[in-house]
Order: sequence, then C-alpha cells, then structure tokens
Amino acid sequence: MNFKGCSRSAIEVLSGHMALKWQRRPGGVYCFNYHRIGSAADSEFDPNVYSCTPERFEQHLRMYQTNFDVISIDELISLHNSQQRVSERLALLTFDDGYIDNYQLAYPMLKSAGLTAVFFVSTDYIDKPQIPWWDEVGWIVRHSGNASVKLAHWPSAINIVDGAIGMRVRRLLKAVKQDNSLPMEEKLKQVKVALQLDHIGMPEPTELLVNWQQLKEMADNGMHIGSHTLSHNILAHLTPEQQLVELTQSKQRLETMLHREILSVAYPVGGSDTFTRNTLNVAQQAGYKLAFTFIPGINAKLGFDNRYSLCRFSIDENASVWQLKQMVNKSFSFMSN
Ligand SMILES: [Zn+2]
Repeated sequence: MNFKGCSRSAIEVLSGHMALKWQRRPGGVYCFNYHRIGSAADSEFDPNVYSCTPERFEQHLRMYQTNFDVISIDELISLHNSQQRVSERLALLTFDDGYIDNYQLAYPMLKSAGLTAVFFVSTDYIDKPQIPWWDEVGWIVRHSGNASVKLAHWPSAINIVDGAIGMRVRRLLKAVKQDNSLPMEEKLKQVKVALQLDHIGMPEPTELLVNWQQLKEMADNGMHIGSHTLSHNILAHLTPEQQLVELTQSKQRLETMLHREILSVAYPVGGSDTFTRNTLNVAQQAGYKLAFTFIPGINAKLGFDNRYSLCRFSIDENASVWQLKQMVNKSFSFMSN
C-alpha cells in the first residue's frame, strides 16, 4: 500500500486498525507457501518464483514463532481427523517445486529455529534434472528480441517487451497456462520457434532443483516431503486417468526413494482453474490424506469439505512482515467493536 499523500495521523490510524485486526485474527490453520529463497535479480529464469530473501525469511520465521503455533503436516492430518473448528492460531509452512535454495538456505534456517515445513516436489524433475516450464518461459522472455509472440491458435499476440521483467514473464505465462490445446512441452517449442529461439541452447539445469540425496537428508532431519505430481502439468488440463497417474506414481516414487509414507499433495499452479472437483476425488483415491491449493485463506474448520482443497497464503515479492500480516488481514472480515 502506498501512503503517499496521507497525513501522519492517517497512517497511524491505518496502522492501528491493521494491528487491531491482526490481534483479532480468527483461530484456524494458516498455511504459508514459499517457492524460492534468494534474490530475483540473480535469476536468469522466472523472477516471480522468488518469495523472499534469506534475511526476510528469518524475520518471517520469528513472526510465525511469536504469533502462531507452527505445526507439522502430521499434526494437521491428526487435526483433520478430529474434524473440528480450530480455536488456536496454527501455522503450517510449505514450499513448492523443490528449488536448490530450499535445501541450501531454507532447510538450515528452519532447522536452527526448531521449525518444520513440508516441501512439495514434482518427481520427474528430481529424476531427470530439467528447467521447469515456467522458468523456461522466463528464459524465453529474457532472450527474445521480439516485442510480442502469438501462436497460430491464440486469439491475440502477447506483449513481452513492455514493463518490468516480472510483468513480461507473467503475461506470457498466463497465455501458456490458459492454452489447454497442446502439451506444455509442445507449446513452449512453438513459442521458441515463433521467436527464433529454437536453435539457441538452454542453460544446463545443473543445481537448479534438489536431488534425491538432499531430499532424503531433509526428510531424515525433521522436514516433510509431499507430492507436487510427476510432471507439474496443470491437472485441470488432464483426463481423470492422467491425473490419477500423476498423483499415484509421484506418491509411489517419493515413498520408494525416501522410505516413508507420503500423505500430502499440492496441486501444480494451484489456482481455482487448475484443478477440478474430480481432482479432489482423484487425490483421495490416490491415497493422500490432505491436498493443498494456491487459493489464499484461513482454514478455520477442518473436515472432509476442505481436506483436498486447503487454502494457502502465497509469499511473494520479498514481502515484509507488515505486508504479510496485511495479506492475512485482507482474507477475513473484521468488526472493530
Ligand atoms: Zn509448483
């Protein structure tokens, strides 16, 4: 929020209201989601997957410790089994995609703070290191000399030249995500051909994501691992049979490699248009106890209704503790008297 033009007293009133609302936030499970820890300026890929710097993450951890009871995924499963309204303010920390900085930065910080988190990974990316499709889109936008791109079946061209790099990548990603007429690999191939980038080699994906050994070390030291499917394809674009393969085989692969039961899954991308009502049934059929979306909100009541569609707050753009609290505040209504 920009307070330019506000008088000092107006800022104080707003801050006071914000603080009061935060103090009166309801009981429930507050799930927070991170992707990368680090600086987006250092990336040659998608800058939008950087949640915050290690310094900010440290501040977030202190805030969680002071304002919540931070629980593990196993504790959340037990709570769900009791199917009750939660009166305490509980926090669950989650990470998606398994970037190497999760192992190098987040894991040691969580460990030294005595906290745990659940890390959702797509097993195909661990088995065969490759650049994730959203990072490939980031690389394409950074390397294209063209002002726009349009595939033959797209209704209009996508501007990839105007604005900050984050916005330019977001615009192309939106078009790619909305197009469910082709497999992701084929869409990106066509985009690269359209931009004459198909003959330029992508950088090696070395050390972009965690490997099995690192994941096992994290799992053996108090961290929890969940599935983020096999391929990170958008489930709503797949048939129920394909969705079942994504959810079942990734679970089995994680269990074989990590020697423990995998009980939770996070739907790739995770917005309301990226999974269907049927996806929730498929998640249950595949043997998961919980499934997470990327829809913001507080999980106040735990039960069958939301067992396979839990809300998560997304931490983005190096959010300060103040911004993080504001994001939470916006998600519930509040009566000041
Ligand atoms: Zn993801």
